[in-house]
Amino acid sequence: MSAASSETPVNFIRQIIDEDLVTGKHDKIITRFPPEPNGYLHIGHAKSICLNFGIAQDYNGLCSLRFDDTNPDKESMEYVESIKDDVRWLGYDWGERLRHASDYFDQLYEFALKLIKDGKAYVDNLSAEEIRQYRGTLTEPGRDSPYRERSVEENLDLFERMRKGEFEDGEYLLRAKIDMASSNINMRDPALYRIRHTDHQMTGDKWCIYPMYDFTHALSDAIEHVTHSLCTLEFEDHRPLYDWCIENVEPPSRPRQIEFSRLALDYTIMSKRLLTRLVDENKVSGWDDPRMPTISGLRRRGFTPHSIRDFCERIGITKKDNTIEMGVLENSIREDLDKNSPRVMGVLKSLRVVIENYPDDKTEQLEAANHPNNPEMGSREIPFAKTIYIEQDDFMEDPPKNFFRLAPGREVRLRYAYLITCKDVIKDDAGNIIELRCTYDPETRGGKTPDGRKVKGTLHWVSAQHAVDAEIRLYDRLFDVPNPLADKDSDFMLHLNPDSLQKLTNGKVEPGLAHANARQSYQFERQGYFCLDSKDSTPEALVFNRTVTLRDSWSRSK
Ligand code: ATP
Ligand code: MG
Repeated sequence: MSAASSETPVNFIRQIIDEDLVTGKHDKIITRFPPEPNGYLHIGHAKSICLNFGIAQDYNGLCSLRFDDTNPDKESMEYVESIKDDVRWLGYDWGERLRHASDYFDQLYEFALKLIKDGKAYVDNLSAEEIRQYRGTLTEPGRDSPYRERSVEENLDLFERMRKGEFEDGEYLLRAKIDMASSNINMRDPALYRIRHTDHQMTGDKWCIYPMYDFTHALSDAIEHVTHSLCTLEFEDHRPLYDWCIENVEPPSRPRQIEFSRLALDYTIMSKRLLTRLVDENKVSGWDDPRMPTISGLRRRGFTPHSIRDFCERIGITKKDNTIEMGVLENSIREDLDKNSPRVMGVLKSLRVVIENYPDDKTEQLEAANHPNNPEMGSREIPFAKTIYIEQDDFMEDPPKNFFRLAPGREVRLRYAYLITCKDVIKDDAGNIIELRCTYDPETRGGKTPDGRKVKGTLHWVSAQHAVDAEIRLYDRLFDVPNPLADKDSDFMLHLNPDSLQKLTNGKVEPGLAHANARQSYQFERQGYFCLDSKDSTPEALVFNRTVTLRDSWSRSK
């Protein structure tokens, strides 16, 4: 039952839970993941999902997926559906426990009536601006609203009329009657219900008043018998209000709010509100653009659920905010793909090579291992012929000393094939290199050197007549500064990296990839891990996304 029996590292939340089980405070652990359906989920949400669902799994408890849908202006069914897809894809199952805060609107309304009847809530008709003025500041107490002492009868009547739609948006507000002088601004008579004449994606036009987040969240937890309500640190100051809401109704249960630090990653942003701007202003191709830190973006980029869960486990759960390097996330996917991806050859920027002494019509099938360390993954045959493509970057006409690849007069090894020597360089009228003329040594089949001569460079290649065309998309950091939000005076969009996407249109990949599996990642030898783009790739026109390079290119300065 206890976390200690699982492989998951102990964290302070699991310690609290262990204690609650030992003391008998709880015998069943219930958590929830409570997204607001106002955007697609990002990797920060994955941290919360892994924590909440992970705890439920390890303690044989329950975890619900609850939509905190109290703000119909910004929410939609598209977001609801995408969130369900993403949670499922990450490998979690809410079973019967799909919930919406809107499922509880009737009950929440009853809770509000109770507060009014007990003299703990009142209807205010100060304007939004006046409410701000009355609220005070961090150093000055607030002032009581002139409407604070309305009678219970009057409050009940006004609240009922709010519900019936007799007033405009913003004309009236239901507020908790707590303490306008509290040192915690959240406790200065916070709003509980506001008027919004907007249809709701779940309840249609049934309501024109909607409960506020803090009130809804606390009482939804109580209704669901959540034992540990895990949220991010910015809610620490809201905890007294959370507790107040629960204490002042007759709560079905008494959940405990515990805060942990948000995930922040460098070179990206982690807020649905800001990510929405990137989408709406067409800075990216959509929520699932492979550069986005969204779960759907990472999925399209080629991340696996396992790699994201592994990442969330590595970063751990603490009370201290810090920013994680993108390299940590990339290491998780790299490790996973290194183990599980078959090796193939793909040329990103192709350069024609004609092997002059190779017979014109001959094709040989050469054997290539699918994984260097895992013979169980087998091998395949790849065709070799007179004309091949190599990588443009693997040739230099006038190479520096430490360049061990192809150059005029130099010999290199073609992976799984032969040694070739560059004899001539063909250029177009503009002086661009368009073709190399080489010779091969027939004694070196499979890359062996019978005389033991040393050849340093080994290049990947594909046979020109057999290769399949592919568009290759390479990705870089979405922003060009580690924290695009650091400068409060300038728009974070100014820090978008103009080179975050590179589309290479003359890629050539080995023929077997014509039937590439859309659910499989491949290591293109020497170039990184790639997967088919789930949106744009077709059998006639392949598009590969590079998920990640073979080595960490982030930690070094570029
Ligand atoms: P955003 O600003 O991106 O909309 P949010 O906190 O408003 O984030 P919610 O949909 O309310 O988004 O979040 C659902 C749950 O996910 C909450 O419990 C929240 O605390 C948690 N969460 C959101 N962002 C992060 C993050 N960066 N790291 C860890 N947990 C997060
Ligand atoms: Mg939110």
